[in-house]
Amino acid sequence: MKIIRSPKQMQKTAWRWRAAGRSVGLVPTMGCFHEGHLSLFRRARRENDIVVVSVFVNPAQFGPREDFAHYPRPWKRDRRLAGKCGVDVVFHPSAKALYAKGHQTWVDVEELSRPLCGAFRPGHFRGVATVVAKLFQLVQPARAYFGRKDFQQLRIVQKMAADLNFPVRVVPCPTVRERDGLAMSSRNAYLSAEQRRRAAGIPRALQSVGEVIKFSSQKPISPTVILRKARALLRRIPGARPDYVELVDPRSLRPLKKVAGRALVATAVRLGRARLIDNRLVGRE
Ligand code: AMP
Repeated sequence: MKIIRSPKQMQKTAWRWRAAGRSVGLVPTMGCFHEGHLSLFRRARRENDIVVVSVFVNPAQFGPREDFAHYPRPWKRDRRLAGKCGVDVVFHPSAKALYAKGHQTWVDVEELSRPLCGAFRPGHFRGVATVVAKLFQLVQPARAYFGRKDFQQLRIVQKMAADLNFPVRVVPCPTVRERDGLAMSSRNAYLSAEQRRRAAGIPRALQSVGEVIKFSSQKPISPTVILRKARALLRRIPGARPDYVELVDPRSLRPLKKVAGRALVATAVRLGRARLIDNRLVGRE
């Protein structure tokens, strides 16, 4: 497995692969790997000639009061895990190399970035869309793998790739969960043992939304009624402060006025030092 730190060297290597007709699968990450990341690496391994994993804690997607400085960076462990999954190249640039002095070009996927997490993390998705666009230019992947756990991010990357004509297939991957249902996340490490136990209430609250829809005799149902139970369940988790829990259209991410077909229930909850996000597709086609 090769480690590349220089963006220029990454791009030159990608050009060589392209000239040789080899397909490249890219998995962008911020490191601190867990099974969620590894499931993306394995899928990329099955579907491409070359697998590139980028490890970059992107300063542009953190707000001034967020956890950029504290974000875990277990580089040696990450390198070992990537090697075990058959990754060919880990691209690990410095922030200085990726955002050269005087950088002033940004990618903003306007409408999809506004609701849900966008309303609570101004500038976050602009940072995400910009870094992913840069990674697409540097790695030139045929396929790029993103987890459904970060559903809004996935939709934004899909839209950005389509709007800017990137010749890349964005591949959505299922959320990997702990045994009690909590979505795996590098930020789960911020939780104390007690908070970690309580955090399982988050996926349970989302599951309850699916059940309310499934067992309701009324069709369509109003989101207010559906979300009542989820809100009550989240409020019952000691110390939890939900930023939002919403039912949205899975394509536009706009709030639904009534639920008839497929819907996305999404939440962000603050618990101790962590801000945890999760979502679930609910309803019928
Ligand atoms: P991150 O390092 O948190 O930026 O995540 C890198 C990629 O892994 C993103 O596409 C995430 O959506 C994905 N990912 C993170 N957690 C999970 C999970 N529990 N299951 C599946 N994919 C995940």
